Amino acid sequence: MENGYKIVDFNQIADIYVVNTCTVTNISDRKSRQILRRTKQNNINSILVVTGCYAQVAKEELAKIEEIDIVLGNNEKNNIVEHVEQFIKEKNREEIISSVMEQKEFLNFGDITYTDKTRAVIKIQDGCDRFCTYCIIPYARGRVRSRKIEDIVSEIEKIAQTGIKEVVITGIHIASYGKDFKEKIGLIDLLEQINKIKGIKRIRLSSLEPTIITKEFVNRLTKLEKICDHFHLSLQSGSDKTLERMNRKYTTKQFEESTQLLKQAYPNVALTTDIIVGFPGETDEEFQETYNFLKKINFYKMHIFKYSQRKGTKAATMKNQVPPNIKEERSNILINMSNQNQILQNEKYIGKELEVLFEEEKEYVQGHTTNYIIVEVPNVKNIENTFQKVKILSTEGEKLIGNIAV
Ligand code: SF4
Repeated sequence: MENGYKIVDFNQIADIYVVNTCTVTNISDRKSRQILRRTKQNNINSILVVTGCYAQVAKEELAKIEEIDIVLGNNEKNNIVEHVEQFIKEKNREEIISSVMEQKEFLNFGDITYTDKTRAVIKIQDGCDRFCTYCIIPYARGRVRSRKIEDIVSEIEKIAQTGIKEVVITGIHIASYGKDFKEKIGLIDLLEQINKIKGIKRIRLSSLEPTIITKEFVNRLTKLEKICDHFHLSLQSGSDKTLERMNRKYTTKQFEESTQLLKQAYPNVALTTDIIVGFPGETDEEFQETYNFLKKINFYKMHIFKYSQRKGTKAATMKNQVPPNIKEERSNILINMSNQNQILQNEKYIGKELEVLFEEEKEYVQGHTTNYIIVEVPNVKNIENTFQKVKILSTEGEKLIGNIAV
């Protein structure tokens, strides 16, 4: 926009299309290819730029798609205009994919926040050094690079002035924040600074690696009154043997200790997680261990993924791949458990008063509690972006239904 371009909806006729691709699974690769082949149907004379993680790791596959004019790796994303203008002059297909592995600093694209009217998503770091055996992300995003505290704080200060009340702290592996700095700075130091920003009332954390949840971390965290009591701790498996094959860096015992620390510190804590079922070599016994462990932790909600082979990862070549019907069966069992957990945990709020930040009003008026439960209030208007106390009367699916408390 700074260069005089106008941004239109992707489905409209445009002169330039930019496709930011994902490569997290083989399915996302296929979807990326499909959309790249389709895009120029809107305007055969347009320029098609592809960037993002699939562009970063799949140069040869993209070379087969004739419709593409420019391929840019993740490091080149902030120079799209320059490359497009060069293409207009020279009309030669361009492929510029520099190695993300050698990128040592956080590439600051300026303020790149995604906001709705109440909540802003703030990226604090890029990259991951963990190399879980099923995951392609370290190869597509490179090593951990953290954004400077002062840049993050200044962006959030600006956002707060626009009336936004909640920020979501995100990145590829936020527990690694600061690991690449010379000074000893970590995620908790950053959160302490964000907590001081006027106007921001809630700080939400995206997925956290459980190993960061130590006594010291929780002690400092509980002093920050804006931190929301919803924590997403990626477990992936409740079997130590499976965790080892996944190259996850914790045991179920350590994971359980982390959840206990959070449960003690936050009485209404909602713990959510991701689980992969059917990881190569997952026996019935290992799945049973996962099942028992999940029962014990009693998550509020679990995102269940059936393991899918991602080309280029170690797990894709492991022996004893689990047949699809078994993955399906295990997935259904855990989805069922997750739904039950949510229903039971929601019911305990009936009759209680909860503070809700109301969001954009659509056909219904709803918002979230601090622990990220959706609350809907019928027959009320004009409460968008305000905090209200709501008396909970009933539950409906994932939601709580209530009235504004008087
Ligand atoms: S920690 Fe997350 S992003 Fe990093 S390799 Fe493992 S799954 Fe991928």
